[in-house]
Amino acid sequence: MPDKDNIAYQKCINPACGAEFDCGQTLFKCPDCGELLDVVYNWDKIDVPDTLSGFGRRWASRDNRLDFSGVWRFRELLNFCPDQSKVSIGEGQTILQQNDDLGKALGMADGSLYLQYEGLNPSGSFKDNGMTAAFSHAMMVGAKSSACASTGNTSASMALYAHSCGLKCTVFIGSGRIAFGKLSQAMDYGGHTIQIMGDFDDCMKQVQDVCSRLGIYLVNSLNPFRLEGQKTIMLRIIEQLGWQVPDWIVVPGGNLGNSSAFGKAFLELKQLGLIDRIPKLAVINASGASTLTDLVNDKQLRWNDGNVDQSIIDDYYADLTARNFSPHTCASAIEISRPVNLKKCLRALDICNGVVLAVTDEEIVDAKAQVGMHGLGCEPASAASIAGLKHLLADGTIAAGEKVACVLTGHALKDPNVTVNYHKEKQGPFSNPPVEVANDLEQIIKLIKA
Ligand SMILES: *Cc1c(COP(=O)(O)O)cnc(C)c1O
Ligand SMILES: [Zn+2]
Repeated sequence: MPDKDNIAYQKCINPACGAEFDCGQTLFKCPDCGELLDVVYNWDKIDVPDTLSGFGRRWASRDNRLDFSGVWRFRELLNFCPDQSKVSIGEGQTILQQNDDLGKALGMADGSLYLQYEGLNPSGSFKDNGMTAAFSHAMMVGAKSSACASTGNTSASMALYAHSCGLKCTVFIGSGRIAFGKLSQAMDYGGHTIQIMGDFDDCMKQVQDVCSRLGIYLVNSLNPFRLEGQKTIMLRIIEQLGWQVPDWIVVPGGNLGNSSAFGKAFLELKQLGLIDRIPKLAVINASGASTLTDLVNDKQLRWNDGNVDQSIIDDYYADLTARNFSPHTCASAIEISRPVNLKKCLRALDICNGVVLAVTDEEIVDAKAQVGMHGLGCEPASAASIAGLKHLLADGTIAAGEKVACVLTGHALKDPNVTVNYHKEKQGPFSNPPVEVANDLEQIIKLIKA
């Protein structure tokens, strides 16, 4: 049992267990029952600003490295480690862009669509929000070596943070399942990269066994400290809306860490009286990796106050195994069929009155081209949010005029192959292929659309 005077401690999410542990312990799963762990705070021992604008004032002291960070600027809300162990490389300098052009293309009113560009992070994806928190915890507990299973962005982010604080790092990736932008980062940032003949789910299983056998610090989103950092994506969205919550948050779902973190963020903010209502959450799968959608929409799996019907999950996974199923989507970042944060995501859907759905690869690449043409661009998985939004508008789940924030999780340059193929091979209505012409001024001039 942790000391009750602690500001923060870890707690098992299973209400039938509820075991508690100090933050100084490195666990990743409840040793008593095997369920996920949360970081929980004794809020009355933390000096949280009375209003959210108290955090915004830190923009004025950007020479303080913690105030500069878009994660640690909100440090009272993720208060699990001392300042001296906090690792930061300037993450979270991301923007919420009001995008009326794209909104209009989707049939939305001006001022309705907002894009949260997490591709602007140091390694080019939202993962840096979590990695800064995980490595801060790793420093606090004196870890020497880190590892992750990755579809790409986790490894890029881990390698960058590991070398910024002197930890070794090992990356497990599924053979041929990683976009080149991401693989190039992992190698360039010095990650020891191990390609397993298998998919992400195989890597995820192996890395957990390797970490527990060798005492290596695991930075996948099983790590509850990582999710604490990812809460700040929601804080920055409401900050940029003048401390108002939007009506909807739309996010792609892979291992379901983000959606889980978002639900926890809103619950805590509401409990602290810092927001007066909780937005709705839409989690979007790719149809080739649709475990969450199948379980929630077809099998009616629910959080049910923490009493999740495990037999539904076991049957579903047994069927995947029996069919030798491996997930497939061009959105490699969400090509996951056994999401480790499934139960926390069910909780988030319960907190946020959420919905889930799956979109096809064709819908994803079209939406991606639309984001590129009207905004800052994104990688395929990120565009699942826009593709999902189209469905939610069409079926009336999201009403015209509601304020929607889509999280664009990764940078456009992460996966140039998908982008180039879409445009050059004219795969969709937004394809914009290059035109070839002889090296001749008159012929070139004829081609210019003045
Ligand atoms: C990791 C990742 C996702 C999936 O996020 P989860 O938290 O695992 O659901 C989506 N998009 C991108 C670009 C990612 O890197
Ligand atoms: Zn437990």
